[in-house]
Amino acid sequence: MSYQRERQTELAVIGSGIAGLSAAFFAVQQGIETVLLGGAGSSDFASGALDLLSTFPGEVITQWDDPWQALGVLPEFYPNHPYTHLQPEEIDLALNQVLQALERKGLGYQGLERNVQLITSLGTCKQTYRVPESMWPGVKAFQDKSPCLLVDFHGLKDFSGPWLRSTLAREWPAIRTERIDFPETRGHSELFAVRLAQSLESERVRQKLAAAVAPLIRDEQFLAFPALLGLYSSRAIRAELEERLGVPIFEIPTMPPSVPGLRFLETMSDILNGYSCFRRESGKRVSHIQREATGQIVLTLGDGEFSSRVLSRQVMLATGRFLGGGLQADPEQIREVVFDLPVVQPSPDQGWHQEDFFDPRGHQANRAGLEVDSVFRPVDTQGNVVYENLYAVGSILAHSDWMRMKCGAGVAIASAFKAVQSISTAYNQEDRFSL
Ligand SMILES: Cc1cc2nc3c(=O)[nH]c(=O)nc-3n(C[C@H](O)[C@H](O)[C@H](O)COP(=O)(O)OP(=O)(O)OC[C@H]3O[C@@H](n4cnc5c(N)ncnc54)[C@H](O)[C@@H]3O)c2cc1C
Repeated sequence: MSYQRERQTELAVIGSGIAGLSAAFFAVQQGIETVLLGGAGSSDFASGALDLLSTFPGEVITQWDDPWQALGVLPEFYPNHPYTHLQPEEIDLALNQVLQALERKGLGYQGLERNVQLITSLGTCKQTYRVPESMWPGVKAFQDKSPCLLVDFHGLKDFSGPWLRSTLAREWPAIRTERIDFPETRGHSELFAVRLAQSLESERVRQKLAAAVAPLIRDEQFLAFPALLGLYSSRAIRAELEERLGVPIFEIPTMPPSVPGLRFLETMSDILNGYSCFRRESGKRVSHIQREATGQIVLTLGDGEFSSRVLSRQVMLATGRFLGGGLQADPEQIREVVFDLPVVQPSPDQGWHQEDFFDPRGHQANRAGLEVDSVFRPVDTQGNVVYENLYAVGSILAHSDWMRMKCGAGVAIASAFKAVQSISTAYNQEDRFSL
């Protein structure tokens, strides 16, 4: 078999969701030559908010306002959760490094030392730790129940201001809605948030939007839109609209695909592209792996005559769960797709799911995943490290039901940080990996 291209690297990161992007970010900061593989992750589905930890599922659900307090007692309740391999200081450092890098590129996040309440596209509230700055005024507006006008658009898929208001009405009576035509979309029966966000990059469209909204504002102190105020220059776009309309503006998350999730991915990619030791191979999935006698791992991307290969000294598996493609379920078992690693999973008699979707204990299948050692290397059923140079990070890890516990981004970023630290230590000891 001849390959279209063959590349050698010190670290190959498989998966470019929050975990993979973070791993690549921490690695290139250390000067480690890194190749990032795989397409977008589930983050383009995510709200854009970064969860740290807010909920312990169980017969009784425990909600934590203070995620750091929750982290302190987590080992008592979930002794195998991925966070138990991390010190709170490491988690804090990891998050801050990512947030500061995003801020330098114009994607700001806001938050407090505790979790805050964020309104969702359904009009429910979600506890989270760090909120895109475009949503931050909404946290305060909701907290104070301030008069607010929510503007949405005819034809916008999966977002309804009236629905949201009806859900929120009892708690927030001072929210009012108006529905208008989005500029330059007459004749379109269906509108998509990502497309509208792109079109707001044009000043002409912004002017038209401001002109349509201005007469609708009464005495409201806040103006809300679905999260589509620009893709690449959202900070400037929101500031310009605030100036034109004279009122603080905030975004409310939409259903997937999520513009704030895409902003995160785009900005992280932009940061990574600034490093000369960074390369990306997107578009093809890792279809085959092979371990050389030297210990290097050979990753084959794609199939047939268009396949290529990456030979790497270290590999980071950040392939996510079922949605990302890292785990697959057949009627008998849950499998890890790339390396066929052992997956901790419910035994057949336990059942994968509770009967009630909203069961407060959560579902066993959501805790299935890879068991790892203290530096995030997958281990087998005896607890032995499978490969010295293979790490696994993010939502593929076992014992972390990110959906219930609200710990998705936190686990992804912090596990990536710790795994890269381990690689970096080896890297420094050897000065530079000899390939
Ligand atoms: C609807 C939804 C809403 C969410 N909301 C939030 C939220 O508000 N806050 C929060 O903190 N978290 C949220 N999350 C969770 C969060 O998105 C994930 O926890 C986080 O993205 C970490 O995921 P990951 O990077 O481990 O995996 P993923 O994001 O799933 O990425 C997996 C990556 O691996 C790649 N891949 C898989 N197999 C292969 C292969 N064989 N070869 C190459 N590449 C491969 C995929 O293409 C993808 O790039 C949400 C998730 C969803 C689905």
